[in-house]
Amino acid sequence: MVKEIRPHDCDTRMLMQQPGQDLLPFPGIGHMLPDSGLPALLEEGFQLWRYEAEGFGPNGILMLFDGHDGSVLNMPEDESYVSCQGTALELLEPVVLAACKSGKLEQIRQNLQDEGNSHDICLSAVPVMLGGSSGCAAVLGIVQLAHEAENTAVLHSYALHYRACLYRRLEYLYIQGLAREQVLAEKEASRREAMLQATKRLHDQIHVASVLGEMMDTLELLYPHSNADLLLSQDYANTDARVQLITFKQNADDISAAAFMGGKPVVRQEEEGRVTIAVPMAGKQATYGVLRLTIDELEWEETELSDMEMLAETAGTAFENAKLYEQSNQLINELQLINELTKRLNQSLQLKEVIEFTTTDLLQIFQADFCCMLQYSKTGNEFIVLSTNKQELLHERFAGDYGFCGKILKSKEALIVSDYSERTAVTSKLMTLTDSQSLIATPMLVHAEVLGVILLTHRRPHFFSYDNYKLLQVLATHIGLAITNASLHSEVRRMAITDHLTGLHARHFLDEQIQARQRQDELGALILVDIDHFKQVNDTYGHQIGDKILTQVSGIIRSVIRDSDIAARWGGEELAVYLPSVTTEQAYRIAERIRTEVAKQTAPGVTVSCGVSEWRFEDGKISVESLFYRADMALYEAKKRGRNHVQVG
Ligand code: GH3
Ligand code: MG
Ligand code: MG
Repeated sequence: MVKEIRPHDCDTRMLMQQPGQDLLPFPGIGHMLPDSGLPALLEEGFQLWRYEAEGFGPNGILMLFDGHDGSVLNMPEDESYVSCQGTALELLEPVVLAACKSGKLEQIRQNLQDEGNSHDICLSAVPVMLGGSSGCAAVLGIVQLAHEAENTAVLHSYALHYRACLYRRLEYLYIQGLAREQVLAEKEASRREAMLQATKRLHDQIHVASVLGEMMDTLELLYPHSNADLLLSQDYANTDARVQLITFKQNADDISAAAFMGGKPVVRQEEEGRVTIAVPMAGKQATYGVLRLTIDELEWEETELSDMEMLAETAGTAFENAKLYEQSNQLINELQLINELTKRLNQSLQLKEVIEFTTTDLLQIFQADFCCMLQYSKTGNEFIVLSTNKQELLHERFAGDYGFCGKILKSKEALIVSDYSERTAVTSKLMTLTDSQSLIATPMLVHAEVLGVILLTHRRPHFFSYDNYKLLQVLATHIGLAITNASLHSEVRRMAITDHLTGLHARHFLDEQIQARQRQDELGALILVDIDHFKQVNDTYGHQIGDKILTQVSGIIRSVIRDSDIAARWGGEELAVYLPSVTTEQAYRIAERIRTEVAKQTAPGVTVSCGVSEWRFEDGKISVESLFYRADMALYEAKKRGRNHVQVG
């Protein structure tokens, strides 16, 4: 709204007190004056007056002088010549100075001789007083022919008219200034409003992409005729063409880099009246990029820099928050994944199972095309493929220094390959065979030892992200532990069911197995083997040799039976063999082979006696105990019959 101007706002005395400064009657108008200040205003008023007074103003030559020092402010260009006695200016000078001093109208008459002619002229200097009695601002100088000269009252009225014109001019300037300020204020207000809205919207965004988009939209709204872009320092998958990755060129012209490094805005004058502004976009923790705006310099005001800084700062904070939010989401997802995977890993202690479902899970988690899990064998210095979805590679062996596994074994560090075809340093059967271009691979480390390696590949180049690479490393730790646990467990189990002297199964394992078989099979046979006169053997050769013979006999039994049969150490020097789904006849033949082979192979030579028993589904009451009991009875019978004998129960 334009401020109403009331007469009492005009303190005209001010005008006189501090000439040349902010001395006008309208407060704050100093900066609205023409560049040359008060003298220019006086001259503008003079021109206005002359225009308005044309036809009824004074005849003669008119000039305007500064009321303080009498210097000329305006004079006609060609009419200053009056006579050879002096120009109008020279003639007027003493009169004007007198008027400046007295503040009163001064007038003299003078006779001039010029080329034989004589004229009487009148020289008038009329002070123009600006209100009050504070002095004279300007002096109107008038050169007239004496007979045409006006009386003092008329001259005074000229001065008043001039003063009115001057005030009008001043008012005009004042209002023009106010209007200009209002336009600026409105522009500023709408910019502030846009900024405020943008700030609100920015803080509402929780996704990095929308924060960046919002900021660029705001810039485009505020500066529609500009080129705006954002240079990010971080690699970020974006689809907005206005957002790019910052590059650091080693040259002084690179104002984006300068703004980024310095953490301060940089403004540079461009050709063709354009200006480029680079403002760093920083959050609390770091600077994330630079906001760059190229704009016509007429549309840019120095004061807008702080607004741009504010926008960049808001965007920086919002970007940081969104980034943190995305990171925490990602972290939650990763933790969930890890949690689920470890839960599944812990559900099974079967190595084969663990490895197989890990392969499936990894393929799914990383959306990979192929997965390959290899175990490292220290003794053979080789990798063995334990599990893979590329069947040709299953159980394949690779030398410890071959391919990516070899690299990982050496460095104990994970690696990522974005484009295999570009890289010839490492040959990889997996990559070639599957025609893959992307790879992430990580060692499974347990106690800083490489237990194995996980390889994940994809046919597309640049498929895996850095986050994928990091996640795989985390998962590999858990998988490595699960594999170790499963391996340890199977080792403990093996130890628990194995008799350490003979290497045969322990008795409880045999019991369990027979029990299980009796639930599912139709029949089965048991052979009990007892070394004859073993006490004597011990007595003769000592216990150590006795142990050796026991081990020999166990080896013979193992060599005679099939893999599906179960041999165990049942008691001291009594051994037992269970033959699933085997009849007594078949069992007898096997027992006979054991007997004859022992007699043939042992040194010092011993013989064995065997008792054979069987169970059948139709027998009614079936139990492990009765099976053993009957075999034991048969064995007793065999001993009675002179030993080195097989007796069927
Ligand atoms: P037979 O069976 O022919 O009737 O005579 P035997 O001398 O073998 O008699 P018996 O089966 O009663 O004796 C078992 C002997 O086997 C007693 C023990 O000294 C010996 N023995 C049992 N377990 C072991 C073992 O683990 N190592 C050794 N060296 N001897 C054992
Ligand atoms: Mg015995
Ligand atoms: Mg014996």
